[in-house]
Amino acid sequence: MKFTKLRLLGFKSFVEPMDFIIETGLTGVVGPNGCGKSNLVESLRWVMGENSYKNMRASGMDDVIFAGSTNRPARNTAEVTVHLDNSDRTAPAGFNDSDELEISRRIERESGSNYRINGKDARARDIQLLFADASTGSRSPSMVGQGRIGEIISQKPTQRRGLLEEAAGISGLHSRRHEAELRLKAAEANLERLEDIMAQIS
Ligand code: ATP
Repeated sequence: MKFTKLRLLGFKSFVEPMDFIIETGLTGVVGPNGCGKSNLVESLRWVMGENSYKNMRASGMDDVIFAGSTNRPARNTAEVTVHLDNSDRTAPAGFNDSDELEISRRIERESGSNYRINGKDARARDIQLLFADASTGSRSPSMVGQGRIGEIISQKPTQRRGLLEEAAGISGLHSRRHEAELRLKAAEANLERLEDIMAQIS
């Protein structure tokens, strides 16, 4: 599975629809200070499920929407779409029935955001798990931001284990285990309640 295209519309400084074709191999983004290089990387993190506006250098999630300039009004929506080539059918189970995956996230001012996979509504959780299973994601060490190298070097061993777990492709399993544990706890609580009710009846 690999990224092939990133499309931005109204995301931060990218007010016009903008397609970035991601060729095989190494891609470099160069440009003067303030031209939007970090915004571009943030758009990728955002569509992969980033839910902290602070990690988007924003004071609220609506700040990712184009805020207007001297000659353009602000927009009310922003959308980021990423295309993944899945012709080798390595997408995680549940997402593996097409040669291409198109994942998009759209935000509307004061209404929050929603996700789609190949045009169908999806939950943030589905998107986050898809990328975690593919050993990447919005918080993944495969996204190396400014200052991240120093941070990784000074990490504690338990934190560094997270890096290795992700490289081994098991971070998605941890999330699923956590969800299963929560469901188990809820089932146990229901069972206890049922026993109380049965004791009262008998
Ligand atoms: P540097 O090389 O200095 O790190 P950069 O190329 O990474 O810069 P970014 O930080 O991606 O640049 O972009 C900053 C620009 O994006 C600023 O001009 C800022 O005004 C603009 N910007 C950020 N959020 C929005 C928004 N919501 N609407 C319009 N413009 C925005």
